[in-house]
Amino acid sequence: STQEKTPQICVVGSGPAGFYTAQHLLKHPQAHVDIYEKQPVPFGLVRFGVAPDHPEVKNVINTFTQTAHSGRCAFWGNVEVGRDVTVPELQEAYHAVVLSYGAEDHRALEIPGEELPGVCSARAFVGWYNGLPENQELEPDLSCDTAVILGQGNVALDVARILLTPPEHLERTDITKAALGVLRQSRVKTVWLVGRRGPLQVAFTIKVPRPRKRLTELLLRTATEKPGPAEAARQASASRAWGLRFFRSPQQVLPSPDGRRAAGVRLAVTRLEGVDEATRAVPTGDMEDLPCGLVLSSIGYKSRPVDPSVPFDSKLGVIPNVEGRVMDVPGLYCSGWVKRGPTGVIATTMTDSFLTGQMLLQDLKAGLLPSGPRPGYAAIQALLSSRGVRPVSFSDWEKLDAEEVARGQGTGKPREKLVDPQEMLRLLGH
Ligand code: FAD
Repeated sequence: STQEKTPQICVVGSGPAGFYTAQHLLKHPQAHVDIYEKQPVPFGLVRFGVAPDHPEVKNVINTFTQTAHSGRCAFWGNVEVGRDVTVPELQEAYHAVVLSYGAEDHRALEIPGEELPGVCSARAFVGWYNGLPENQELEPDLSCDTAVILGQGNVALDVARILLTPPEHLERTDITKAALGVLRQSRVKTVWLVGRRGPLQVAFTIKVPRPRKRLTELLLRTATEKPGPAEAARQASASRAWGLRFFRSPQQVLPSPDGRRAAGVRLAVTRLEGVDEATRAVPTGDMEDLPCGLVLSSIGYKSRPVDPSVPFDSKLGVIPNVEGRVMDVPGLYCSGWVKRGPTGVIATTMTDSFLTGQMLLQDLKAGLLPSGPRPGYAAIQALLSSRGVRPVSFSDWEKLDAEEVARGQGTGKPREKLVDPQEMLRLLGH
């Protein structure tokens, strides 16, 4: 029968990994792919991570939308796997399951004072200005003049840029109205980006290896050259500034005199030991206190285990796998940040997701996946409805999308994001 020839596959998560995996799986002429997403809206960090002033990065949404429009692909938002439906239930209903649920947590600093008001994760700050529902209550206090970002990766740079960009330059982006309002009142003038290692080890991404040398040269030149008179005058009149502090490892968030909030960071001075890959930053014994009113920790994202039935390496924060095949669990795959760890740009995630898709299709061809028909969404839909869960389809998302675009129009924004899942569901008549 045709059903027997139809591989039913599901993907968990609708970020770049989920969509690129689905795109590859659909190369199989009969495969049907369902994408489950816990948010009522698709695209993961393309919507909730990528900075609002980098709209060109979000063009990948066009490709994802094409994938979602395939007659053999469906999007089911508002379904949290591990809560609304379990991974074993998905494994029953499908021939194969791909876990692409990203990295939703952040790595803790694990230093005293981390819990003080005035300290938050860059992840939460990014979620706040990008409209991630769970971070809308953040209300970062920008009434201080100095912010310290612990970490020097791409996310740290995004956060520094958002803090320092004159708000009028963000007015025509998809940053949320609430975030823009708070940034307009910001008194932050100086942002320090603190890193344990030196300029040669910074984690900014550059597209090809050659520019790393150029970037390093530029960093060194800017740091050591005396500016010419015009540049010196420009710098003196600038109302906001940022700087990199290298070879500094955070030891403690210092409390204000009344102990109520963060007032600075104590840093241990470090130096590098070892060569190449084995280079480590070790403390010299010297300390430095950096006063500030806001501390943003940006030392990395972290994946969470999704379901007790799925193996999880909590040390590395990934699902243990060989080229996307989950160890010891036939029919279960993974892609994206939950497979590789939370590093790499969308292009890296694409390559790795295509590879997972390729492995799955190979296994299918080799007869390694269960034979016989599988019910796919029909079975899951019944479970969800018995649990009172109302999934959001891709055409539902397109209604929300149109609403967001319409709300942005009056103010010249590409969209005004909906930030309240209840409101989204109400608009859909759910
Ligand atoms: P995600 O994009 O996080 O997608 C995971 C999806 O799974 C999410 O939609 C999530 O809601 C969903 N999910 C989680 N748990 C469940 C569950 N239990 N059930 C169902 N669904 C679930 N790359 C670039 O190329 N350019 C940039 O400018 C850029 N900027 C970035 C800025 C920031 C702040 C960050 C953090 C990353 C940035 N990246 C950028 C990197 C890029 O976002 C990642 O490479 C990519 O998003 C990883 O894809 P993913 O699908 O693995 O994870």
